[in-house]
Amino acid sequence: MATLEIHDLHVSVDAEGGPREILRGVDLTVKQGETHAIMGPNGSGKSTLAYSLAGHPKYTVTGGTVTLDGEDVLAMSVDERARAGVFLAMQYPVEVPGVSVSNFLRTSATAIRGEAPKLRTWVKEVKEAMERLHIDPSFAERNVNEGFSGGEKKRHEILQLELLKPAIAILDETDSGLDVDALRVVSEGVNRVRESGRVGTLLITHYTRILRYIKPDHVHVFAAGRIAESGGPELADKLEEEGYEAYAKGGASE
Ligand code: ADP
Ligand code: MG
Ligand code: MG
Repeated sequence: MATLEIHDLHVSVDAEGGPREILRGVDLTVKQGETHAIMGPNGSGKSTLAYSLAGHPKYTVTGGTVTLDGEDVLAMSVDERARAGVFLAMQYPVEVPGVSVSNFLRTSATAIRGEAPKLRTWVKEVKEAMERLHIDPSFAERNVNEGFSGGEKKRHEILQLELLKPAIAILDETDSGLDVDALRVVSEGVNRVRESGRVGTLLITHYTRILRYIKPDHVHVFAAGRIAESGGPELADKLEEEGYEAYAKGGASE
């Protein structure tokens, strides 16, 4: 049972004019099989949390701990984190010029599994996963994220999620820029991976819309760099009605 434990995490970003503290003491435990929704206003630090967990070099951890099954995640390189089973689907995925989706997936799977997947079964695995996500077969030969539409980027991330089978999946605004049909396909993908019971999911979102398709076990409100409130799915309903005003600066969170 993989468990991600975040304790009193403080993170600064290297901004112009010097470092700026963004995360101010985040506490969160995500167990395999659980889905946690992280919700909150723009600029509250949700993406910073995601990048910090994945090991993005722009973000400096100034305090606190992150462990995966007791192993110090913060001491791991980006690659080591991926091999340990931490997967990040970014809010703004980057282009990888000259690398096809097909090669990218196989290289990633090889790195994470520690050996190249057997070609025959792998080709079948990829083909089936693409069919489930309604992705055209020609997509596999395109360069990663080059000219991808918003929907294609998100489907590509869920494709990785299905094939790489991480222990902890961090999905940063996977719902943004999706029309209702794409949102349904993407959500079905996330739910398939969840139903395996093998992944702990951190679903970061600004809007409650995606929570109609993916039902979280826990909902956390992020405000000013920390978790201001935690609850069950009913908390998302409250947010849908009342918005984030109660958590605004100088409000309940300080
Ligand atoms: P969210 O994802 O909740 O919208 P972010 O984590 O993207 O919030 O941003 C939180 C705050 O940190 C914002 O004020 C943002 O401007 C700042 N920030 C995040 N990344 C950087 C960066 N690389 N350089 C400067 N400021 C940053
Ligand atoms: Mg603190
Ligand atoms: Mg963000």
